[in-house]
Amino acid sequence: FLYNQVQDLKGSIRVYCRVRPFLPGECNEQSTVDYIGDNGSIMIMNPVKQGKDARKVFTFNKVYGTTVTQQHIYADTQSFVRSVMDGFNVCIFAYGQTGSGKTYTMSGPDLTTEETWGVNYRALRDLFQFSKARMDLVEYEVGVQMVEIYNEQVRDLLVSDGSNRRLEIRNNSQLNGLNVPDASLVPVKCTQNVLDLMRIGQRNRAVGATALNVRSSRSHSILTVHVRGKELVSGSMLKGCLHLVDLAGSERVDKSEAVGERLKEAQHINKSLSALGDVIAALAQKSSHVPYRNSKLTQVLQDSLGGHAKTLMFVHINPEVNALGETISTLKFAERVA
Ligand code: ADP
Ligand code: MG
Repeated sequence: FLYNQVQDLKGSIRVYCRVRPFLPGECNEQSTVDYIGDNGSIMIMNPVKQGKDARKVFTFNKVYGTTVTQQHIYADTQSFVRSVMDGFNVCIFAYGQTGSGKTYTMSGPDLTTEETWGVNYRALRDLFQFSKARMDLVEYEVGVQMVEIYNEQVRDLLVSDGSNRRLEIRNNSQLNGLNVPDASLVPVKCTQNVLDLMRIGQRNRAVGATALNVRSSRSHSILTVHVRGKELVSGSMLKGCLHLVDLAGSERVDKSEAVGERLKEAQHINKSLSALGDVIAALAQKSSHVPYRNSKLTQVLQDSLGGHAKTLMFVHINPEVNALGETISTLKFAERVA
């Protein structure tokens, strides 16, 4: 039994790496991505170095080049999403420096075109379709929470009055099993409900921020989908949840330049991303101590990291030469948790 559990644990962390294309206006003569193998390897090249030091290979579960479609990305994500309907807890993360494509993967460039929808919308659409297909066997209820973690404070993004109050985290709460029990939990029945909620969430995210982009790159946003199912024949209940996490930008801030508010933000981001890395690395190494308590992010996600839960980490690469330093540190982070 124990053996199976350990095997299960090991199999539960997957890392996918995605390289975004050059954007209009970027210097696209040279890419730091030299080569992508079909076995999940990616070769990074430093154009100013010579010889064997100039190239380094990293290996993950999958690596996607610049031409991969949103549909393809979702096809490789679908099994994680569907396992929530069987009662698993799942976390899907987008990691990378600001501008590397995290929001593109999770949400997509805009809500209006289904073709470019990201994982979030595709996942919910899929859950609704899947529950319909199982209608004769299981009766499902789906509810959504959306919170933001900014400067180690958790805020509800689905409040309609924009009050955006700070929320407590209660692990092992008996209260309907939610880790952030005071965040609005909104029942959803169809994809349109979800799209409407996202608009509210995005609007609330902007409250009090000078620029939405600045704020969104410095906070983690977590969309949590709670699924409850009642098996019609046996009457037994199942419960699963899916966390879709668009992480704060992973770039290191120059300590000599950042002051005041900017320095504080940077320290909070740094702390929570390393805490996340430490937790996933501990789980990957089957360590007996998993340090969940070190950040709000890992506390909110505690029940869905480790145990029987499944984790998928998308790490994002900006191919520009001037992003090389961040690219290497992103890939090192990914290698540590893989
Ligand atoms: P992040 O959320 O990591 O800061 P974004 O997702 O906002 O980055 O991406 C930065 C820019 O690059 C956006 O204009 C986005 O539309 C574009 N972009 C990112 N990934 C892709 C991709 N795979 N294909 C096309 N454009 C992309
Ligand atoms: Mg973003």
